[in-house]
Amino acid sequence: MFILILGAPGSGKGTQGKILAERLGIPKITTGDLIRAAMQARTPLGREAKAHYDKGELVPDTVVLGLIKDELSKPEAKDGAIFDGFPRTAAQAELVDKTLAERGQRLNHILLLDVDEEELVRRLHHRAKVEGRSDDTPEAIKTRLQVYQRDTAPLVAHYAQRGNMRRVPGIGTVEQIAEEIKRIIGR
Ligand code: ADP
Repeated sequence: MFILILGAPGSGKGTQGKILAERLGIPKITTGDLIRAAMQARTPLGREAKAHYDKGELVPDTVVLGLIKDELSKPEAKDGAIFDGFPRTAAQAELVDKTLAERGQRLNHILLLDVDEEELVRRLHHRAKVEGRSDDTPEAIKTRLQVYQRDTAPLVAHYAQRGNMRRVPGIGTVEQIAEEIKRIIGR
């Protein structure tokens, strides 16, 4: 089963994706984590990503498409995975669709975690204090929310049109939201 979790920065994709991955026993693929690991390891890819990442801009598709391709081709992701933090651009969405289609698979569930902007900003500023991620500066947070509206929100419209996207209210306790996702997915 392939599940895509969409949502703005701070909407809770990572938290809910983790709960879901554990419950269903399938891997969660998170481009943000892959990029952070590459930056930490100072690989060429990580070095290239850092300048974009720290400003809150998208890491270029020249880097991210390869990452996604590698992850999708791993044996663990053969029969299912949760996609968290991607696709974020039209090219990434095409790659995901094409790869799954070639394997006779598809996105079984597309969930949109819906959280209003005021709450997103509040959560991101709170997380900045707790975790100190290098892209949680006020400037980068502003950029990330703008980039989401500009580059990723059109994808949401695209998936909504395809008909199998479900909107999940992202406000409430972590448990309440997890319950709602369980109800939608049916397991
Ligand atoms: P958030 O959604 O809270 O911004 P992420 O960990 O998903 O957190 O993303 C953090 C940063 O990592 C993004 O601002 C971007 O620089 C980079 N990133 C993550 N996933 C992608 C992706 N699919 N395409 C391009 N850049 C990405």
